Amino acid sequence: MSTGLMWFRRDLRLRDNTALHHALAACEKVYCVFCFDREILDRIEDKSDRRVDFIHQCVSELDTELSKLGSSLIVRYARASEDIPTLARTLNADRVYANHDYEPRRISRDQAVGMALQRDGRELLTYKDHVVFERNEIINQSGLPFRVYTPYKKAWRSALRDEHIAERDCSLKNGKFAKPLPAWSHAWTLGDLGFSKSDLTVAGGMCAARAMFEEFLQRIDHYRDLRDFPAADGVSRLSVHLRFGTISIRELVREAIKRSSAGAATWVDELIWREFYNMILHFFPHTQSHAFQTDLDDLPWRRDREQFGAWCEGRTGYPIVDAAMRELNATGYMHNRARMIVASFLTKDLLIDWCWGERYFARKLLDYDLSQNLGGWQWSASIGTDAQPYFRVFNPVLQSERFDPAGVYIRRFVPELRHYPNHAIHEPWKTPPISQAQFKCVIGRDYPEPIVDHDESRRAAVEMFRVARSRST
Ligand code: FAD
Repeated sequence: MSTGLMWFRRDLRLRDNTALHHALAACEKVYCVFCFDREILDRIEDKSDRRVDFIHQCVSELDTELSKLGSSLIVRYARASEDIPTLARTLNADRVYANHDYEPRRISRDQAVGMALQRDGRELLTYKDHVVFERNEIINQSGLPFRVYTPYKKAWRSALRDEHIAERDCSLKNGKFAKPLPAWSHAWTLGDLGFSKSDLTVAGGMCAARAMFEEFLQRIDHYRDLRDFPAADGVSRLSVHLRFGTISIRELVREAIKRSSAGAATWVDELIWREFYNMILHFFPHTQSHAFQTDLDDLPWRRDREQFGAWCEGRTGYPIVDAAMRELNATGYMHNRARMIVASFLTKDLLIDWCWGERYFARKLLDYDLSQNLGGWQWSASIGTDAQPYFRVFNPVLQSERFDPAGVYIRRFVPELRHYPNHAIHEPWKTPPISQAQFKCVIGRDYPEPIVDHDESRRAAVEMFRVARSRST
C-alpha cells in the first residue's frame, strides 16, 4: 500500500494545490506535514516577526481543516532538511510530495532532502504550483531568457491555455488523509518557537485569502484607474497570500480572465510581472547581490547611516516618503506606488546603496520575496532589467501631489501634519512659520526639515550614473 507525505511550505492551502493533488491521486494514504524550519526561524532577529505569526495562523487553520476530515497536520519544529527524511521513514512513506520553492537556499534544502530520501529508497516529488509558468517555460525565439517585460508578457499571454490555470482537484472527501499518531506532532505555540504574538493586522489562512479575493473581485474592474493611489481602495493586498500560497495563482488568473475588463487585464499584467522577476532571478542569479546591468554594479553609493536611519524611520521631511516608511513599519505592507517612491528617494535623493534598502524591506515586508524585492529595487535604482532610465528621477513632491492629492495617505501615517491644508501638505517646509504654528506642526520642531534638497540630489544622481555609463562605453 503506497503512503505519501505531503510537505507544505509556501502553499498553505488544501484547495487547488498541485502537490497535494498528485499525492491524493497516486497514494492510498496521505499524511500532511508542516515543519517550522529552524534553519529559517533561528536567523530571524525580530522575535515578534509578523510573518511567523501569519504562518502560525495558516498552520493552525490547516490542522483544523484536516481534523474535520478525520486527519490532522503533523507539525514539527526542526531542521527540515534532516527532519523530513526521518519523518518519511517513521511513517514509511514511499514518496514525499511538495511544490517548488525557488529561493536559492530552499533549492539547496530540497536537494539535500531529495538525496537523503533516495539513500533510503524513497523519493521527493516536486511540482510547479506557485506560478502559472515555470521559469524556463517562457523564453524567446532564440531560446534565451527575456530581459524586457513587455515581450515577456506577450509571450506569456500567447502561451496561456486553459490547462495552465485549471483547478488541480484535491478531492478532500476521498478518505485518503491518514490520521497521524499524537507522538509525531506537537501543537507548537508561538512561544514554543521562541516568538511572541505580533501586531499583525492581516488575517492568515486560506479562508481569509478567499474572502479578500472575493472582496477584491467587486473592485477589480476599477483596478487600472485606482491602483496608483495609496489612499484608495484600489489594489488587492493579496501579495502576502501569494507569498505563502494561501490562495492559488491559477484561481486568481482564472477568475480575473473571466471578468474581461480593462481593470482585470491590468491586474493580470501585474501577476505576470511577478513571474517575470521570478524568471529573472533564475537566469541571472548574480542579481541576488549585484546589479543586473553589470556596468552599473560599482556605483559610488553613499553610506550615510544617519540619513539611512531617517529614511527607515520615516523622518526624511518629505511627507509622502515618511508616510510610506511608517506604513511599512506599522503594518508590514507598503503600497506599490509608495515602494517606488521610497526606493527612488533612497537611491536617487540620498544616493544610498540600493542593497541597504532591499535588506530593510526584506526584514519588514510581510510579502517579502527575494526575486520580487530585487526586481523592484533594481528597477527603481535604474540598474535592473527593464529599469527606469537613470535620468528619470521621481520628484517626491510631484509624486505626492499626483498620487495623494488630498493628502489622505499622508495624514493617515504622518498624523502630525493632519491640520495642514491639501495644498501645503506635500511640502510643509514652504509654509510660513506663523501658519505652521496655526497648523499645530512647526517644521524643524514637530516634524523634520527635508534632509536633502531634491534638485541638488537629482543633479548629483544623474551625474553619478552619467559618469559610470561613460566609463563603460
Ligand atoms: P496588486 O496591485 O493587487 O497586484 C497583484 C499582485 O501582482 C501582487 O500581489 C503581486 O504578486 C503582483 N505585483 C503587483 N505589482 C507588482 C510589481 N510591481 N512587481 C512584481 N509583482 C507585482 N512584491 C512582493 O510580492 N514582494 C516583495 O518583496 C516586493 N518588493 C518590492 C520592492 C520594491 C522596491 C518595489 C517597487 C516593488 C516590490 N514588490 C514586491 C512589488 C509590488 O509592490 C507588490 O507586489 C504589491 O505592492 C503588492 O500589493 P498588492 O497585493 O495589493 O498588489
